[in-house]
Amino acid sequence: MSDNITVAGVSVDTRHWIGGRRVASAGTFTDHSPIDGRALGEIARGGPAEAEAAVAAAREAFPGWAATSRAERARILHAIADGVEKRIEELAIVETTDNGALLRSHRRGVMPRVAHNFRFFADWLLGLGHEDFDTRGHTNHVSWDPAGPCVLITPWNAPLMLATWKVAPALAAGDTVVLKPAEWSPLTGSLLADIAAEAGLPAGVLNVVQGYGSEIGDALTSHPDVRRISFTGSVPTARRIAESAAANLTPLSLELGGKSPLLVFADADLDLAVDLAVEQYDNAGQVCLAATRLLVEEPVAEEFTRRFVEKATALRQGDPRDEGTDIGPTIHPRQLEKIDGFVQRAVAAGARAVVGGHREEGQYYAPTLLTEVAQDSEIVQEEVFGPVLTLQTFAGEDEAVRLANDTRFGLAATVATGDRERAERVTARLVAGTVWVNCFFVRDLQAPFGGSRQSGVGREGGTWSFDFYCDLKNTVTAPKGWKRDHG
Ligand code: NAD
Repeated sequence: MSDNITVAGVSVDTRHWIGGRRVASAGTFTDHSPIDGRALGEIARGGPAEAEAAVAAAREAFPGWAATSRAERARILHAIADGVEKRIEELAIVETTDNGALLRSHRRGVMPRVAHNFRFFADWLLGLGHEDFDTRGHTNHVSWDPAGPCVLITPWNAPLMLATWKVAPALAAGDTVVLKPAEWSPLTGSLLADIAAEAGLPAGVLNVVQGYGSEIGDALTSHPDVRRISFTGSVPTARRIAESAAANLTPLSLELGGKSPLLVFADADLDLAVDLAVEQYDNAGQVCLAATRLLVEEPVAEEFTRRFVEKATALRQGDPRDEGTDIGPTIHPRQLEKIDGFVQRAVAAGARAVVGGHREEGQYYAPTLLTEVAQDSEIVQEEVFGPVLTLQTFAGEDEAVRLANDTRFGLAATVATGDRERAERVTARLVAGTVWVNCFFVRDLQAPFGGSRQSGVGREGGTWSFDFYCDLKNTVTAPKGWKRDHG
């Protein structure tokens, strides 16, 4: 097996990155491009032995990295950001080839954001502090101790972006890391290892292992030397990881799936509401936050649907490398099967496909809108993770909120209304980690991000991510001459 593959002119090492060295495995798995199904190459397929080696490397590197000054850690994180910025074009084309999301989004939004993630947490580290406070003359001093080796497991829909939401705060906190990218899109994880090494990150501080979760996952998540596990992915995998982590009570951060609603009130700017709705097809619907349940107030439902159909049918589906493409492919033939299964079962149960409802050639699924769906049906309750939206109508705020909250998820919600007071009333009643009012997808890294109910445990962003990777300590110091009062 060759150690490198060339993807769109970029050389990518296919081996693991453990302890500052490239490490091969006896076995490999084939990585395909969803654009045309073409095999991109053979990737090292890790198992328990590689998991053990990577955790050992992270454990060995931990004392040195934890003792590195904040200024030096921040300097290296900024150097990683510089490296990302220098390679934006390469990272963008490799990511698009590997996971099928739009090249223009990777170039202009996602990869700059990857660099920003490192800069943000570098600056966060430098600004870290808490004013000491006093308890009956005693000083309380809060400190953020590095926690230890962390296992970070990520999905394929935004591979590098989501990995760096975890890698950046963990490294800033003084932790060492084992990153396990998804097997359907492992390539930018390998490039990140190169960039971090070039930036001067010491050996063993960041390790990247590849392979199927079912083969390497348990050995990572049940390891007694691992101090934190951060996972983004599906609910069933999260359950498995939580069971495995329970052996050592390893703290977990879980960012999971969703079935988020978009509530369109009759007083909304209808053009804006339609734009927001059509935007949910972004990344072929493979977005955890996607508002896949359109809930529209009865008086405007017909007009909304008319305008939606007009816009949705004008979307251009095709090669994600083309500037003019709006919707790319789905990640994998298995995902395509899954999406089509959901749609066909929904139609068999009485749903009507107003838009799409079928596969296109290759790995593409037509953007789909289903109406006449029951609230307790599978298509309304379960995450499809494809370009499939449902539309239901409601009469008044109470029904809107009832429908919106009636799933086991609580990741996000979007409200379209022209009435600020209504927005406040409705928002307060929604169960969701993020609510957007008359907008979508805007997010500051300082803000908490995550889900309620089965959409997750914990939050990422700002202090919420940073503190997760630390052992917070409060040191209480007595005033001079203090004597214990046993009275
Ligand atoms: P997945 O759960 O199948 O896989 C995610 C990762 O877990 C992969 O790296 C996989 O190899 C690994 N894994 C699988 N089994 C494992 C095991 N037993 N132990 C350890 N690791 C294991 O999810 P996916 O299909 O890659 O991603 C799609 C899901 O991710 C959707 O549900 C989506 O909503 C969710 N997601 C959530 C967010 C969020 O921030 N809330 C963001 C993106 C995606």
